[in-house]
Amino acid sequence: MKRLCILLFTLTLLCSLAAAAAAAPIGDADRDGTLTAADARLLLRAAVGLDPVTGELRRDCDPDGDRTLTAADARLTLRAAVGLEDAAESDDVNGFAAHSQDVVDVTALYTYEDLQADLRLLSSLYPARFSYEEEGYTVDGRGIYCAVLGTGLGSRQIVVDVGAHAEEYLNPAAVMADAENILRHYDEPVYRGRTPREILADTDVYIFPMLNPDGVTISQSGLTKLQPGTAETVRGIYEAERAAGRTDATQDEYLRAWKANANGVDINRNALFAVTGRDYDTGVTAPASEEFPGNRSAPEAETAAYLRLFGRLKNPVAALSIHSQGSLIYWLCGQSETDLAAARRLTAIAESVTGYYAEPDDSFVGALADWAMLEKHVPAVTVETGLGGSPLPLAQQPGIADRLRGLILAVADGM
Ligand SMILES: [Zn+2]
Repeated sequence: MKRLCILLFTLTLLCSLAAAAAAAPIGDADRDGTLTAADARLLLRAAVGLDPVTGELRRDCDPDGDRTLTAADARLTLRAAVGLEDAAESDDVNGFAAHSQDVVDVTALYTYEDLQADLRLLSSLYPARFSYEEEGYTVDGRGIYCAVLGTGLGSRQIVVDVGAHAEEYLNPAAVMADAENILRHYDEPVYRGRTPREILADTDVYIFPMLNPDGVTISQSGLTKLQPGTAETVRGIYEAERAAGRTDATQDEYLRAWKANANGVDINRNALFAVTGRDYDTGVTAPASEEFPGNRSAPEAETAAYLRLFGRLKNPVAALSIHSQGSLIYWLCGQSETDLAAARRLTAIAESVTGYYAEPDDSFVGALADWAMLEKHVPAVTVETGLGGSPLPLAQQPGIADRLRGLILAVADGM
């Protein structure tokens, strides 16, 4: 304890000496893009057990590279912060050696319109390996896009859904950036000495980059971009929830945290409930901003699009659901013993790329990944990005893009 006090004291003293560090420094515990004594202090607190070692710290803050967070890492971070040592730079992000984007901007708010523009641009820049189509339409008339990364002729398929939960809207830009990186470096040995072309030679990746575009639009822009009838429905849901005492938020606050589609159905609770009739209780029995699983035998358009695509695939080998709730990976949903081995393998890949922890407990919630696992016996995980409640601050978007970079190739490579 005495040693800790001295270390903490020294760190505090050196605070004022802290210098700006290089881009993407290892040890940037507060993730502000700059290495300072404050980062070293956070690392030390975690290393000695005063704070929990989160997935963020475990992955990004290990300058000595021994895969354990210790006081030595805090010390190296501090030395780099005050300019005694060069900051270690992570130029090899998750095994993806080169990365840059021209099209997808991970620093700006990513809207449905931005997605449309990027899909158009990427498919015209890389027509032989990227295409997209509307797999369905939402109640408010938006396209439910599904993009195909790869030739479309592979014998294996991976399915990725992003943006099922409206207010988790930082992920679409992050996944689109990963896709662009793959397209842009298709013939370079950027992934563990192999090219994306080699890795995707027999595998196509089907991506729903914004599965719930109405919801994303509601969370980002309130009712302003909705058709009058849809806006009326959403306003009615707010008023009903307020009357029932389920919210005391203002309408603006309530809509910013909107998670469902424009019918008030939670797209990540809808599939098993509406299609298989499986019983599970989310505690919500009417349209709501979240957790209403929908109506029996009537899947929502977004769910139907996902299931339709899945139904056409000959050999889906993995499914990824990208969400935002606490830097975790959910993978256990009561699947059979025979399905567990592949699920475990997929989870290990997702853990090693993203640095997020795999949740050790069963977390069946009737999610899309649970549907893929239980109904199709396809290994599926829900990857929860970011730190804190959604909508996350836009400042986390580039960091989330870093986390997810390489995930698609790693899964294609390892499954
Ligand atoms: Zn979610």
